[in-house]
Parts: sequence; structure tokens; C-alpha cells
Amino acid sequence: MLVPPKVSNIVFQQRKFFATGKTKDISFRIQHLKILKQAILENEAAIFKALQTDLNKPVFEAALSEIGVCLEEINYALKNINIWTKPKKIKAPITQFIASAQVYSEPLGVVLIVGAWNYPLQLLISPLVGALAAGNCAILKPSELATNTSHLLTEIIPKYFNPEVVAVVEGGIETSQQLLEEKFDYIFFTGGSEVGKIVMAAAAKHLTPVTLELGGKSPCIVDADTHLEYTAKRIVWGKFMNAGQTCIAPDYLLVDKRIKRDLLAQIKNCIHDFYGDEPEKSPDYGRIINQKHFNRLCKYLDGDVLIGGETNPSERYIAPTVIDRVGWEDPVMQEEIFGPILPVLEYTELNEAIALVNAKPKPLALYFFSKDKQKQQTVLQQTSSGGVCINDTVMQVGVLDLPFGGVGESGIGRYHGKASFETFSHQKSVLNKSFLVDMKLRYAPYKDKLKILKWLMK
Ligand code: NAD
Repeated sequence: MLVPPKVSNIVFQQRKFFATGKTKDISFRIQHLKILKQAILENEAAIFKALQTDLNKPVFEAALSEIGVCLEEINYALKNINIWTKPKKIKAPITQFIASAQVYSEPLGVVLIVGAWNYPLQLLISPLVGALAAGNCAILKPSELATNTSHLLTEIIPKYFNPEVVAVVEGGIETSQQLLEEKFDYIFFTGGSEVGKIVMAAAAKHLTPVTLELGGKSPCIVDADTHLEYTAKRIVWGKFMNAGQTCIAPDYLLVDKRIKRDLLAQIKNCIHDFYGDEPEKSPDYGRIINQKHFNRLCKYLDGDVLIGGETNPSERYIAPTVIDRVGWEDPVMQEEIFGPILPVLEYTELNEAIALVNAKPKPLALYFFSKDKQKQQTVLQQTSSGGVCINDTVMQVGVLDLPFGGVGESGIGRYHGKASFETFSHQKSVLNKSFLVDMKLRYAPYKDKLKILKWLMK
């Protein structure tokens, strides 16, 4: 007999376990969410270390954007699971008399969660919370580029979870491809658009639904009517945290030319305040994930480098960098930067900035800094993006009930909070009819009934 490959075997075992119906029990889900919380809390120090080794991620950033986000998701799911899982009553129309209508949320089955390397813990664990809350079994595929976090998860998860419920499959592209050959009930992918297409094509073979959390160039528009100091601080924080390797980091600035000089001066001060004279020595500044990405980013360091620009290949260090007088045709504007380089473009009228943004693929995030409420509405009405944050950057992810996801090229589907639960659930419509009454109208012969039907449908 052929020994099934490891991956197929895990999927097979999870499918068998799912069929027992145990994961449908709400107390089982609560228990597993609590186990997940315990696994994170008990391994906090090792997680900090792995993230530091992979990305020189400062402990504060790891506590906030990796562990903190995961714990918040778990606590929120634990608080709301009883409400989320309750069947939702729907008003049945009089034409259905006598009937009740409800929507039941049921688990999908065995789901695959594929993560990216920039937030290697959060991007696997946060969707896992939704998958478990919704009553699924899950296979996690960490990114091979965040090697230490990937190893750590492969070590921790089996200590806390039965692999029939949650398993980690570690490996590179080949492993990912092997997994994608399997039939899953849902695939949740975070990564780049090109791989997103591969994932979607593989899922299509099994008609498996997908969430694709992708990236893109998220613009940051700055109007002249803004609070310059706070604007600069919030841009610098969102752009240079994790050394710019954040999917919703502001990719480029589009600034009203009347305030450009003042804003750039404030940004310079901020970078200095945050990371000191030598950001390379700052314990609060990250590193580029690997040599390939370091080399890719160094090619952008051409042109009018206003701030930063220094690099250290042996450390994979790139200073927080601002490049002025950038044109749309420059290489830095051709693809998502995903690193600590902030190109600056200018505009004269807001309509011009909106038109420039609309000429590009729909981004994952759009940032607009302005005190002018009318202009805020104009930007909201006239642009399309996965999400928007007005007068701040990145903070939109801190509101768990704001669904997070892209639109167009920046992704398909949404998660966080209740949206995660819904993503990993099937909303089953149920109509329950009574035997007390049986309206004859719909039955043949239809003679003389059309008039009544038309009247009812008015
Ligand atoms: P990536 O697409 O290279 O890799 C993501 C995952 O896909 C990894 O686990 C990898 O092993 C796997 N993979 C890579 N090549 C594959 C292939 N040919 N076939 C099958 N699987 C393959 O992405 P990345 O470099 O890890 O992440 C960077 C991208 O992710 C950026 O575009 C960023 O914007 C995006 N991102 C999006 C979000 C979001 O929430 N929307 C979050 C983080 C990162």
C-alpha cells in the first residue's frame, strides 16, 4: 500500500476529526481559543526572541503588533462567540405564512492558512482565531523567510494542539505547492499579488473559496490644512515601524506643495526623535528580512535622497529614508516598496491627487491628512481602497470590528473580529414552514391566480 505523503495525511486526519462534529461544540471552540492564548502567553519570551532574530523587531513593536493583536483577537472572540454562533432570526414575508427564517453559521471544515514573513506570528494566528471560533480544523503554513518564527511555531503548536485540530506545516514554496494540491474547504492567504494568483488558480481546481490578503502601493495624501507635527509623527511611525515592511504602511506621500517643505522638516525631526543620530544603533529600528529584499530596496536609493539613504549590507540595515522630487515613472513608484523608503510627490489641487491615485490599482490602505471635513468626504467618495484612515496611519487595524482586507488588486475578502468568524463560516439559510396553513395560490391550476400574484408583488 502507498504511504500517503505527510501533507495529505494531515489533511486526511483533520477531515476525519472534523467529521466527528466535535469542533461544532461551542465549548470545544472556547477551550481551543483559551489553549491558543495560553500557548502565546507561555512562550512570549521565545516569540520576542524569534521576531528579533528574524527582523530585529523591537520588543515593543512585537508586543503591540504581533502578540498584542493576537491576544486581542482571542479575547474578543471569547467575549462574542456565544452571540456570533447564535442563529440569526430573519423576518419571513407574509407570502411564506406560516414560517420562520434563520441564518445558521456553520464551520466550513479543514482550512489552510498561509502566512507572510513581515508579521509572521500575527498573520497566522489572527486568522486562526477566526477559524477556531467558527469551528474549523486548520493547517498553518508559516513563511519560510521568517525562519526563526516558523521554527518556533512548528515547535510550539504541537505541544498545545492535537494535530487533528491545528497543525503546522513548515517549508518553502515546494511545501506550499504541495499543500495547494490538496482539497481544502477554505484557503486564507497573505502575501504578494503574484503568489495570490497561484493560490487562487490552485483553489479553483477544487472550487475552494479564498481570502487573499495582498499588498500594493498605499498612498498618503497630505492636505495643507493639517496639524503638521502630528501628521509627521503619525506618518513616520506607520512608515518606519518594522523597517517599512508593513502591508498597510504608507507607500508614498502625495503632499500639497504649499506645505511640503514644512512637512519634510517635521518628518526629519521626527525620525531623529524616534531613532536618534544613528538609527542603525537604535534598539527600536528593524532590519530587512533577507539579502534579496535588501538588494531590491537598495536600487530605490537613487535620486534626491533628503533624509537617510545609508545602508549596511552585513546587517541588512537601511536607514529611514525620504526621497524628494520623485516622479511616477521612477523605479520606486513601479511596485510596492515594502521597506523604509518614503518617496515624496506633490500636488497643487486635491482633485489632481485623487486623479493620480485613481490612475493606479486600488490600494490596500489610503491615508488622508486634513482637518477639512468636506475634503475628507471628497476623498472618501472619490477613491476606492481596502480601507481608509483619516489623520493617522496603520491604526485602522486596531479597531477589530472594522473588517480588514483589500479591493481589486489589493485582495479579496476580509477578516478581523466578527469578519474573521464570518470568513470561516458558511451562512446557512434555513426556512422552517408550519403545517398549520397551506396557501393554495402557488399550486396549479393557475387559472385566475395571476391577478392575485401581481397584486401581492406590487
Ligand atoms: P509571498 O507571496 O512571497 O509569500 C507568502 C507565502 O506564500 C509564503 O508562505 C510562501 O511560502 C508562499 N509562496 C511563495 N511563493 C509561492 C509559490 N510560487 N507557490 C505557492 N506558495 C508560495 O509574500 P511575502 O513576501 O511573504 O509577503 C510580502 C507581501 O505580502 C507584500 O506584498 C505585502 O503587502 C503582502 N502582505 C499583505 C498583508 C495583508 O494583510 N494584506 C499582510 C502582510 C503582507
